[in-house]
Amino acid sequence: MAYEYDRENIFAKILRGEIPNSTVAESTHSLAFLDISPAAPTHILVIPKGAYVNFDHFGVEATDAEIVDFNRMVAKITRDVGVAQMEGGEGYRLITNAGAHGVQDVPHFHVHIIGGRRLGRMISA
Ligand code: AMP
Repeated sequence: MAYEYDRENIFAKILRGEIPNSTVAESTHSLAFLDISPAAPTHILVIPKGAYVNFDHFGVEATDAEIVDFNRMVAKITRDVGVAQMEGGEGYRLITNAGAHGVQDVPHFHVHIIGGRRLGRMISA
């Protein structure tokens, strides 16, 4: 089954500049911005600029350059916002939701960086 990317999803619109965002960082292949409905004091979304639906799509079809760029950006942000233990932070959680069971709302691959408070157990429901 081929991956089908919805070009009208909200993150595609952000990438096209059609709706605003609070940018945290931008690189050649990736964009990071504040989540509009934060679940914790730190809640940042990192997305690739390419049209990938979810993590498995990204892992199969993205170039090595895109994958490296994305992962380096996620790691750099954890340090820049001070949640990384290397920066004296108390840690964080990375989440990526996929599909119906993952309860993914926006069908453009993204990683949530969440921290700034103790987050509790991983799965609550
Ligand atoms: P997910 O359920 O993993 O697809 O998460 C989608 C996330 O996108 C949610 O945490 C939303 O709060 C967030 N979100 C939706 N629209 C926007 C927006 N325009 N700007 C920033 N974050 C958004």
